[in-house]
Amino acid sequence: MSRKTVHIENFGCQMNKLDAQLVASAFEEAGFGLSQSVKDADVVLINTCSVRQNAEQRVISHLGHLKHIKESRPDIIVGVIGCMAQRLGEELFEHKAVDIVCGPAQIPKIVELATQAIKEKTKQLAVTEKIRKENQSEELEDFESAYGADGRGNSANAFVRVMRGCNNFCTYCIVPYVRGPEVSRPPKAIVEQVKHLACGGVKQVTLLGQTVNSYKYIAGEKTYCLADLFEMLSEIDGIEWLKFVTSYPSQEFFVPILKAMADLPKVCKYLHMPPQSGSDRILKAMNRKYTSAEYLDLLVKAREIVPDIAIAGDFIVGFPGETEDDFQCSISLLKKAEYKNSFIFKYSPRPDTAAEKRLADDVLPEVKKKRNIGLLAEQEKNSDKFSQKFFGKEVRVLVDGPSKKAKISSNEMGQLQLVGRTEQDCIVIFEGLRSLTGSFAKVKITRTSPLTLFGELI
Ligand code: SF4
Repeated sequence: MSRKTVHIENFGCQMNKLDAQLVASAFEEAGFGLSQSVKDADVVLINTCSVRQNAEQRVISHLGHLKHIKESRPDIIVGVIGCMAQRLGEELFEHKAVDIVCGPAQIPKIVELATQAIKEKTKQLAVTEKIRKENQSEELEDFESAYGADGRGNSANAFVRVMRGCNNFCTYCIVPYVRGPEVSRPPKAIVEQVKHLACGGVKQVTLLGQTVNSYKYIAGEKTYCLADLFEMLSEIDGIEWLKFVTSYPSQEFFVPILKAMADLPKVCKYLHMPPQSGSDRILKAMNRKYTSAEYLDLLVKAREIVPDIAIAGDFIVGFPGETEDDFQCSISLLKKAEYKNSFIFKYSPRPDTAAEKRLADDVLPEVKKKRNIGLLAEQEKNSDKFSQKFFGKEVRVLVDGPSKKAKISSNEMGQLQLVGRTEQDCIVIFEGLRSLTGSFAKVKITRTSPLTLFGELI
């Protein structure tokens, strides 16, 4: 039998990208080849996201495309994994293309499911009714430890999950239902994983968690928080930058985390902490557990302890019941927060969440659109101001590689347009040799725009 191949397509957040990497490693270890396209693959897996309606719609339309391919290649196995698989379960088999449905807590079983689907030509279902229990399984931890250390992708840059799930139950969010409750991974397993990554040439590790700042692991008398992880990981030779996303606005562990950022040179001075709204009424309806004043106090504290910190936020516009006054509160908070950048989303109801069940989606689409544009316009002013501070300065950049628009430049030195990021997560574009990919470079900033810095290699 010739070597089978698998093609994995990913939708959604960084957490999903990481899952896709773990799954790819597991298939490789089982002897499968990885395929860059559906055309050559025996197994096609779609790693799905349920956070926004739009992401689910894209998956459904992609399944339509796969159904056509399956008509001419009936042996191809199509699997849906990730959040949408957990949310919809067996229902996904109504779609003709689908052979495997596997939720996030079941991904350690994915190779076995695919092998069975190939051999037996039967549909395979692995989702759980008991997300609480499954999310805490040793199997999941073993899977993470086994495959989380091969530094797939850009070899200088790796993502490491420090916790799974979320306990917050924001009323608009599906994550606690499909990813289960918060489970922090043992610090020892994380340290071992990062040591392996460092040996493989990784220089920057981004620690991932839905609410990464609530990382908490109790071992005997000691409670480990994210600041302890920073300290332990800072000791690892080869690792130069530690980043972490995403933080929930909360007092718990906040000061120790900030102090670690200020004291430990490897911890990057970048904080992504979404407020979601500036209106206390809407924050309450969202079940966010802070007021806008409390949120802004956290930012003041962050800037006191880490003066050069860069802060990013997320907002949802058009949440049920959001009035023009509520929206103006978001504008006001965004201005006061002086974010480096913000991600702004239009509310869409997610099935089975509290907001979907109890609150009417009563803000008109055109009003959501207008508010989205309004917040983005305000943010652009903030981002521009933030970027301008770097004009004429030298920054240290970890080079991702050629930019999407990279072309050989006219100086005939074989230089390409490269892209990298600073420790404050600013995107920097400059010219240099491809061989700089994965290393640190010093760049002098000669031009700025709201979201990008442009410069010259020093
Ligand atoms: S904190 Fe809220 S928005 Fe974030 S993952 Fe948890 S429930 Fe969802």
